[in-house]
Amino acid sequence: MDLTFSERETAFRDELRAWFAANDPGPEPLHREDEHYAWRRDFQRRLYEGGWAAPHWPVEHGGRGATLTESAIFFEELGRARAPLPANVLGLLLGGPTLMVWGTEEQKERFLGPILSADEIWCQGFSEPDAGSDLAALKTRALRDGDGWLVTGQKVWTSGAQYSKWCMLVARTDFKAPKHKGLTYFLLDMEQPEVQVRPLRQITGESEFNELFIEDARIPDENVIGGVGNGWKVALTTLMNERAGLAFFLQVRLRRMLDDLIDEAAARGLLEDDVVADKLGALHVKTEILRLTAYRGLTAIEKYGQPGPEGSLTKWMWSETNQQLGQLAAELLGGDALVAGSRWGYELLRARGNTIEGGTTEILKNIVAERVLGLPKGR
Ligand SMILES: Cc1cc2nc3c(=O)[nH]c(=O)nc-3n(C[C@H](O)[C@H](O)[C@H](O)COP(=O)(O)OP(=O)(O)OC[C@H]3O[C@@H](n4cnc5c(N)ncnc54)[C@H](O)[C@@H]3O)c2cc1C
Repeated sequence: MDLTFSERETAFRDELRAWFAANDPGPEPLHREDEHYAWRRDFQRRLYEGGWAAPHWPVEHGGRGATLTESAIFFEELGRARAPLPANVLGLLLGGPTLMVWGTEEQKERFLGPILSADEIWCQGFSEPDAGSDLAALKTRALRDGDGWLVTGQKVWTSGAQYSKWCMLVARTDFKAPKHKGLTYFLLDMEQPEVQVRPLRQITGESEFNELFIEDARIPDENVIGGVGNGWKVALTTLMNERAGLAFFLQVRLRRMLDDLIDEAAARGLLEDDVVADKLGALHVKTEILRLTAYRGLTAIEKYGQPGPEGSLTKWMWSETNQQLGQLAAELLGGDALVAGSRWGYELLRARGNTIEGGTTEILKNIVAERVLGLPKGR
């Protein structure tokens, strides 16, 4: 692993830093969900106008053809500038790259541009009440109807559905085939009365995610991605992109929060306390390990052309470290960190979901046990 940036990478970073210096995202509107979302959407538009919405996308689709290292630099700098994740993060990181692999030329032409500009937001309709970790158990069904499909079913935990135009929806189209083989990947138009979006309130008080109730919603044939019956393979492309892209942003965000906590502890004279210094030191070490593991994952992709188990390792480590940081903030700052609406109170509560979203810790441990340690498969 070589962590020295090449001349081209340094130039990429400097150009980006200069752009962020000239494009301050402004203060984060806390605890006002719609305003917060609008802030993220506006900032994505500014990134788009500056040609920075998706540096990792190929030039012909509006990206910069950034290498993996440049892409990592992008997320590190985004975190450094305290800029928000673009509003259409699921379209940029999951939907667009999935279309580039499986989409027809017409689909790429139709859908990629509005993802970049945040004109059309995308959400991910995979999980169902009885199909989360075991995604292939999903029951939402799509039945042939003329030159299209009629979809009926229920999805759950659909982040950002309330703002979305398109939903990456996996549904069952063949009821006789083995469960992984009877699935098809669709793009569902959310703007139809047959799709009901009901917000789910989280422990933080926000409603980032929703339930979707779908009854005879129509999807034209041209919105099938990757062919009928091929949904499992297309969904795997989406899932593989989910962990790879975010690792750098998340580790930089964690670093920033740890630095803020160290400042708060210093301001209260707490760093003189050996136990406190020890706990902060332990989190510093974990944060550094995360950064280096994220880079090691990158090296693996560059060498072998596909993500290794590092993506699962970083997601597992990041989520637990982030939870520990929230707990430590509550210990150190006491009542101040527990007040409803406070920054640390929010972080403490929001971190609970980290070990569930994007693959639960138990599932990640299974992956590491089976694919890294070569232990026998659990039943
Ligand atoms: C904040 C947040 C945002 C989300 N956003 C989206 C979204 O936008 N779109 C979407 O489709 N989904 C989304 N999800 C859903 C998420 O992907 C699922 O919650 C996750 O995959 C787990 O599925 P489940 O909730 O059905 O739990 P289950 O799969 O039912 O798991 C329940 C428990 O059993 C454990 N378990 C299950 N199988 C095994 C096994 N084989 N070995 C060991 N333990 C096991 C799990 O680890 C967990 O502790 C989101 C979740 C959260 C928390």
